[in-house]
Amino acid sequence: MEVKVVKLYNPFPVGPTNIYIINREIVLDSGINLPESVQKLENSLKELDLDFDTAKLVISHPHADHFGSAYLFKKAFAHRNACKKLHDAERSYLELVYIHFQREGLPYRLALRMMENYERVYKGLVIASDSCSAIGGTLKANGDVLKVIHVPGHSYGHIALYHKETSTIFSGDVMLNGITPNPMIEPIDEERRMPVIEQYLETLENLYKLEISRAYPGHRDVVFDYRKIIRNHLEEYEKRSLLIFENAHKKNAFEVATSLFADLKQLFLIMTETIAQLDFLEKRGFVEKRDGKYHITGEKSELVEMWTRIKEKIVSKG
Ligand SMILES: [Zn+2]
Ligand SMILES: [Zn+2]
Repeated sequence: MEVKVVKLYNPFPVGPTNIYIINREIVLDSGINLPESVQKLENSLKELDLDFDTAKLVISHPHADHFGSAYLFKKAFAHRNACKKLHDAERSYLELVYIHFQREGLPYRLALRMMENYERVYKGLVIASDSCSAIGGTLKANGDVLKVIHVPGHSYGHIALYHKETSTIFSGDVMLNGITPNPMIEPIDEERRMPVIEQYLETLENLYKLEISRAYPGHRDVVFDYRKIIRNHLEEYEKRSLLIFENAHKKNAFEVATSLFADLKQLFLIMTETIAQLDFLEKRGFVEKRDGKYHITGEKSELVEMWTRIKEKIVSKG
């Protein structure tokens, strides 16, 4: 299997986005819709005698830095949830997220500011497109067969591509060197949300038991010791879970978030992480939500024990 790596400019804190051109046929991720990123992508395709009409785009997951310029490609393939988000450039998804943020205590003026920011900045970073078809099962790249694996938790529409013969995986944002993926909330409607941390733990468990000699991630360097990275991510999730548990009493999610994390420039990420962790704690019986505020109903020692069991279960698969 021939893999060409292209690093594209990405304004988000995680750094450049990795694009992979596999066997001169499949392009995994398009990057964000900014001129310097699009120009470099076009040049990299040209070097391999490809262009936006002939290359087959596969989208790892529906975030601006991965599918922002997907609209340029004639043929695009992704998880059906990612196609749905591409269809309106995440608009209906984000509108629901802002409703959930307000239900979790975000003041209206800040929600308004987020929406204005969306209109002003984010909207241009992802362009809507109807050229997306849903994939599953397997995918062919000039003779090589890649298995499509659903890996929700960071984003519900997230897939990974696995090449069994060389134990290579294209893993997107679910395991990254030196940074832990954010559990982005996934509203089902105005009231309900998907259990994203439960989904992420299942994803890590499924990846841990795979044989992987090389993981090509969505950002940063190639991952060789993926099991170590998964163990690190689990430690980070446990730490956050305990921190939020200890600070949740008689607060709404916004109050928890702003009491713990000072950098309010990252308010979107802080809110989504806090809500996801509180959902997890509530589902597992450690907090209860009454009149918009969370109340601690479990013991810290039990939460530590639970995380020990979660980690042992996942690590025993290796
Ligand atoms: Zn992402
Ligand atoms: Zn990313």
